[in-house]
Amino acid sequence: MKWEENVRKVVPYTPGEQPESKNVIKLNTNENPYPPAPGVARRIAELEPEKMRLYPAFPEQTELAEVLAAHYGIGTDRLFIGDGSDDVLSLAFMTFFQSDQPVLFPDITYSFYDVWAKLYRVPYETRALDENFHIRTEDYRQPNGGVIFPNPNAPTGILMGVEQVEEIVAANRDVVVIVDEAYIDFGGTSCLPLTWKYDNLLVVQTFSKSRSMAGMRIGFAMGDPKLIKYINDVKYSVNSYTMNYAALQLGVEAVKDRAYFEECCEKIIRTREKAEKELGRLGFTFPKSYGNFIFAVHERMPAKEIFQKLKENDIYVRYWNKERINNYMRITIGTDEQMEALQRALREICG
Ligand SMILES: *Cc1c(COP(=O)(O)O)cnc(C)c1O
Repeated sequence: MKWEENVRKVVPYTPGEQPESKNVIKLNTNENPYPPAPGVARRIAELEPEKMRLYPAFPEQTELAEVLAAHYGIGTDRLFIGDGSDDVLSLAFMTFFQSDQPVLFPDITYSFYDVWAKLYRVPYETRALDENFHIRTEDYRQPNGGVIFPNPNAPTGILMGVEQVEEIVAANRDVVVIVDEAYIDFGGTSCLPLTWKYDNLLVVQTFSKSRSMAGMRIGFAMGDPKLIKYINDVKYSVNSYTMNYAALQLGVEAVKDRAYFEECCEKIIRTREKAEKELGRLGFTFPKSYGNFIFAVHERMPAKEIFQKLKENDIYVRYWNKERINNYMRITIGTDEQMEALQRALREICG
C-alpha cells in the first residue's frame, strides 16, 4: 500500500503482561501489593457524576497540586502533574530534548526511553553501566543534548547518591537533566533539593508504585518554574485535559495520608529484605535494591527457564531477552504471603 510509506513506524514499548486470572501471583510490573490509602475509597463515594459533564480542571489549579506542593515543600509553580509519569516523561522528551546533540542514558535502563527518543526523532546514545551495573558519572561529561536516568535505576534497583547525581547535573548545566524517581520512596533519597540550586534539573515521580495507584495514572515533575512553564506549553499544545476528574480527586487522599504511605513503603522494604535473604539461600545473587523489586540471577539455572516455570505455576515475574541482562529476572516485591509462595515455587524449580 502506497500510503504506508508515509506512516510513522515505531516499535512500541512492551509492558509486562496483565493476566486476567485472579489466581495469578503478579510480580511482573512493580505494582504495589497494598491498596491505596483508605481515604481514596471514601472519596470515591463522594465523586459526583454530575461533574463528569464538565471538562476536568487544569491540574496546576487543583487541590491535588496544592497538597503535592505542600507535601514536597515547593510552590505549585515548581510542579507539573500528568497522566502517569510515562505521560510526563514523554512530554519532557518532546520539550527538553531538542538539540542536535545526542541525549544520553544508560544502556540498561527503563526501556521506554529509547522508544520515545525514536518516536520524537531525538538523537541519543547509551552509556554502558559498569560490570556491576553502576552508572559511571564520568560517562555523562561529553557534550550532549540532555541526560535522563532513573534513580534508583530500573530494572537493577541500584541507587546513586545525591552527590553523584549532583556531579552529573553540575557537569551538564547547558542541557536539561531528568531524574526519573519512580522508585525513590523505597529507601532512596530524592534529588528534589537539588532543583533549588540547578534550574536544569527535572525530578519526575509517580503515584503508580509507592502510592498504589497505577490504575489512576498520576505522575508529576518538579523543578524550576521555567522548566514547568515550557513543559506546560507543550502539554497544552498536545492535549489540554490529560488528567481526568476522578484521578484529580482521588490522588489528593493518597498524598494526604502520610502515615499510611510511609507504613506501606516500610512494609515493602521489610519484605524486600526478607526476600533478599531467601533468594540468596536459593542460589540467587542480585544488586542491593532500593526499589520494590529485586533483579536476580541464579547460579546455575537460566533465567528464561525459571521465568517460564514460574509462569506455569501462575507466578509472573519480568524477563527481558536482552543483551547483558538475559540471565536476570526482575521480581516485584509482593506481600509476605506472595513472596513465600514464590520462594516455595523456586525451591521446587531450582532448589
Ligand atoms: C513505572 C515506571 C514509570 C512509569 O510509571 P507511570 O505508571 O507511567 O507513572 C516511569 N519510569 C520508571 C523507571 C518506571 O519504572
